[in-house]
Amino acid sequence: MNFRSRARAFLIQTAALARVDELALRLQKLKGSAHGLVVGVHETPASLEAHFREQLEWASQHFAITTLEGFAKLWDNSPAREANSKPPVLFTFDDGRESNYAVAAPLLESFGGRGVFFVVPAFAECAADQALAFYRSRINPDSRPGDERCEDWKPMTPSQIADLSARGHAIGNHTLTHPRLVGLSPDQLEREIGDSARKLTLWTRKPVDAFAWTFGWDAVDTNAWKVIQRYHRFCFAPCAGSVDSIHDSPNLLWRREIEVRFSAPEYRFLYSGLMDPWWSFRRRRLRKMLRVPPHANIE
Ligand SMILES: [Zn+2]
Repeated sequence: MNFRSRARAFLIQTAALARVDELALRLQKLKGSAHGLVVGVHETPASLEAHFREQLEWASQHFAITTLEGFAKLWDNSPAREANSKPPVLFTFDDGRESNYAVAAPLLESFGGRGVFFVVPAFAECAADQALAFYRSRINPDSRPGDERCEDWKPMTPSQIADLSARGHAIGNHTLTHPRLVGLSPDQLEREIGDSARKLTLWTRKPVDAFAWTFGWDAVDTNAWKVIQRYHRFCFAPCAGSVDSIHDSPNLLWRREIEVRFSAPEYRFLYSGLMDPWWSFRRRRLRKMLRVPPHANIE
């Protein structure tokens, strides 16, 4: 364990002992009905299904598990929500793994929610004997042979994607082949973002409202941003923070990575938002770079 992960573990343990996480969650609720949380998840293997259910049960005590349309109501000017109601939480899943289809989607449905599944069409179209090579070269270049279980790299198919959409989940665009969206030519951007959106619309017969860029919080540039904005109404950043509909705009939404393998003290700490101040510099940098004005409102 390196110094950073030791410090993180210490912080989580201390917060749990002092119940600071519980207090922070209660404060979030008091902030009123203008706040919501987006959770980012990757693989959801069957071996962790019970653990994920426990996380969702716990989350549903503090938040209202919602859908993309439900979350977008944060920007309604005539909300029917009560001031003291639970803030909404939206679950999003990256890369389009089959374990998301098999495990995450039915679990969310059992809680009355629906997820946003950010898929990569070229991954979904991989033949069975090419998927692992695609995963290693495009989706997770840090992956080491021997580390990966089949559930990490097996993609969901176009017909499973269409089925999720028909069941009320949102299918989001996570680019055609999962590149870093920095320094690409206009043609490459059009292919990665536009062609991908068109393909997903063809599969689901629905417009694709949501986009999530790949890799790190700053793996996007202004040229990519303009193309994203042309095709999508909601863009999700891999940058932690709670979404505040008074200061945030739907075209740049923060999300916290909370994986299903995380322990209870770890996920409770992350839901509490105690780490969010640590990300505020990055949120400011992104807003500035992408010229996303605060106080923007959905029409
Ligand atoms: Zn990804």
